Amino acid sequence: MKYYSTRNKDNKVSSMEAIIRGIAEDGGLFVPESIPTLSEFESLKDFSYKELAKLIVGMYFDDYPEEDINAAINGAYGEKFGNKEPVKLVEKAGVHFLELFHGPTLAFKDMALTVLPYLMRSALLNKGIEEEVVVLTATSGDTGKAALEGFRDVPGVNVVVFYPKDGVSELQRLQMVTQRGDNTHVVAIEGNFDDAQKGVKDIFGDVEYNKELKESGYVLSSANSINIGRLIPQVVYYVYGYLNLLKEEKIKAGQEINIVVPTGNFGNILAAYYAKEMGLPVDRLICASNDNKVLTDFFETGLYDKERKLLLTSSPSMDILVSSNLERFLFHISGKNQSAIQDMMDKLSKEGSFRWSDFSKEEIYGEFADEVEVSTSIDKMFRGEGYVMDPHTAVAYSVYKKFLKETGDDKPVIIASTASPFKFPGKVISSMGKTVPKNLFEGIEIIADAMEVEIPSQVSELENLPVLHRQTCKKEEMKNAVLELLQGGKSND
Ligand SMILES: *Cc1c(COP(=O)(O)O)cnc(C)c1O
Repeated sequence: MKYYSTRNKDNKVSSMEAIIRGIAEDGGLFVPESIPTLSEFESLKDFSYKELAKLIVGMYFDDYPEEDINAAINGAYGEKFGNKEPVKLVEKAGVHFLELFHGPTLAFKDMALTVLPYLMRSALLNKGIEEEVVVLTATSGDTGKAALEGFRDVPGVNVVVFYPKDGVSELQRLQMVTQRGDNTHVVAIEGNFDDAQKGVKDIFGDVEYNKELKESGYVLSSANSINIGRLIPQVVYYVYGYLNLLKEEKIKAGQEINIVVPTGNFGNILAAYYAKEMGLPVDRLICASNDNKVLTDFFETGLYDKERKLLLTSSPSMDILVSSNLERFLFHISGKNQSAIQDMMDKLSKEGSFRWSDFSKEEIYGEFADEVEVSTSIDKMFRGEGYVMDPHTAVAYSVYKKFLKETGDDKPVIIASTASPFKFPGKVISSMGKTVPKNLFEGIEIIADAMEVEIPSQVSELENLPVLHRQTCKKEEMKNAVLELLQGGKSND
């Protein structure tokens, strides 16, 4: 299986190369030249998560030795997930929550970012790359920590994470600034997530700068969902969720379901689209946005318009106006029309918007939920079912309710539950009509009581861990910041 850029089909690379590079030289994103298919889902229903992951990841990344894929999956989904099945499907209020937040950093990003470091390391060894890799990462809150944790102390790899200074939750910030590991660097930027992501993409596109880095012994890669190594492991859990429904006899073989995904950079929902294209019986993909409803507007009108103010919401990991992976989606549904993609992306960067008139409404249903709707959903779900949703999951649930009302389509539904409520105690507590304590950790105790679980050690330990990363920079200074970090090592943090 080869990979090529969404903007140029001629230059094919192996999956190892695509994973090391992260993004194509022309600014496009790597996509598989064809999406492999699965059939006979019935015969897969007794597969463990690891078995299924080995099968699916192995189909896409077939230039990897089988033992490397196996080692990656075994290493990712063992101890780090408490040696349990990494994903849980929980039925509440007539919907199925696919809980993807049981990993080391309590958000779905762990599902891929526990695997990616193994794939990266194996690719570096197999390809005989001598330079050290610098994994440049822009985060809206959850990718940063998951990348830091995943790549911590991986030989030959450095991680640099840029997060928007005022754009992440208090707990997300604490998770990052207390990060240990000699190869980890965390920088707050004075800007929002889009600024951070654009800065990172600009660094990738700067030929001169990359040459300079290479002379100093470094090559760049990415841990964002622009990296195909992030995306493919995420396909697995949608298939797993479906198989779980089959196994529990909640659906019949071949029966179609709908999937709802709370969306920011469009990576997670794109993985659901890949699962569908692989043959999984999925009817509608429902793209749920928060108040930053660029995608909702796009799916309704065909106009993608990023020229608006980015709002800070209670679901910060979705506070994004430029959804990178939409490019891959458009590539696939346009029949791989690279010149059209190039054109749209040029317009987006030069004019701030583009139009896609051919868009078929059948492909995706887009809708958004505002802050009041999110609070109401959290409150009602807790009172009715005793189930606590984090604000991102609550966006998805709220949107699903609107979908149901509008369409009457009540097929079995899976809702991607992307983060643990522990990461966003303030919004959860206020939604339940309680007073939010000033102290973060008192709030966390309230969440633990509501969920009737112990506070995870990854959360409780944050109260006493020393802050190791204090650097901030302006959005124009990201290139320099990277150079200084690499030259200065830890002392610059
Ligand atoms: C990253 C994230 C999202 C958005 O996922 P995308 O793949 O960027 O669309 C939603 N919820 C949470 C909790 C996240 O961390």
